[in-house]
Amino acid sequence: MKIRRRAFKIAVMATKKGKVVLVGAGPGDPELITVKAVRWLQKADVVLVDRLVSSQIIEDYVSQYAEVIPVGKQCGRGASTPQSYINELLVRHAEKGKLVVRLKGGDVSIFSNILDELQVLAENHIEYEIIPGITAASGIAAFAAIPLTARDHSKGVRFLTYYKSENRPAEYWEELAKTDDTLVFYMSAETASEIVQNLTANQISKEKLLAVIEQGTTPNQQVTITNLYDFAGSTINRKLASPSLLIIGRVVSLHKQYKWLNNGSSTEEYFERVVPQQLEYYSGKQKLLIA
Ligand code: SAH
Repeated sequence: MKIRRRAFKIAVMATKKGKVVLVGAGPGDPELITVKAVRWLQKADVVLVDRLVSSQIIEDYVSQYAEVIPVGKQCGRGASTPQSYINELLVRHAEKGKLVVRLKGGDVSIFSNILDELQVLAENHIEYEIIPGITAASGIAAFAAIPLTARDHSKGVRFLTYYKSENRPAEYWEELAKTDDTLVFYMSAETASEIVQNLTANQISKEKLLAVIEQGTTPNQQVTITNLYDFAGSTINRKLASPSLLIIGRVVSLHKQYKWLNNGSSTEEYFERVVPQQLEYYSGKQKLLIA
């Protein structure tokens, strides 16, 4: 009986699952990361990292013995790591008993696939923790001096996105044009002109301005501002660098008076692109895992 119990204990120890920590890395500037995030990165055996994470963070905090796997996505630009592959990696490594950090740009739960990852972790009974990060809107509000809910300028703030060829009802745009909330659009650089058209068609106030912030909080941050009615002829009406955030509202006018940072001298892309070779590797690996 004693022997059997001991054998059981050894078997349990041998199959002890690891843990996954879902961590927000902040929006760009590598110093905008939390102390808690750094502590987990220092302990991690495996780090699955998004594209919009400064490589400096990996260099500074991840152990040389850890395995770092880039799992970037690039909306509308061809190359993206399939979510199913990321899910597989999380489960695989955790089941081997590893401490896995899933490092995401900005905050973990704002416009991310956290739900897919939580579902897969729960289904596989893998322990997890969630560590927040500074989302792009907060980082940029500070670095571009656009206080998102400034008194007398705004009643609140909404985090939104607008995908290409999405059809939203007329009432949606009517309400959005009227509200006193500041509107922040993530992942909407390519639909900026459609957003502006819909808001001006609904007589959005001329006092509300549009700011586009490219590569916010990085050394290459560029802030460009226009009145929504002048958008077509403005310098914003061009191909924007990735990533870009749109902010619309009365608060945008505060930038001129309170800005403390000039636009970066370079417009080069700060974040590395997802390269096609990685994708081949991913798709090959994905087949292997599913087989
Ligand atoms: N989880 C992230 C958002 C991921 S969605 C967060 O909380 O910030 C990716 C979108 O975020 C980009 O398309 C862009 O709109 C915005 N974004 C992220 N980092 C940014 C940055 N440094 N500058 C401008 N926009 C950024």
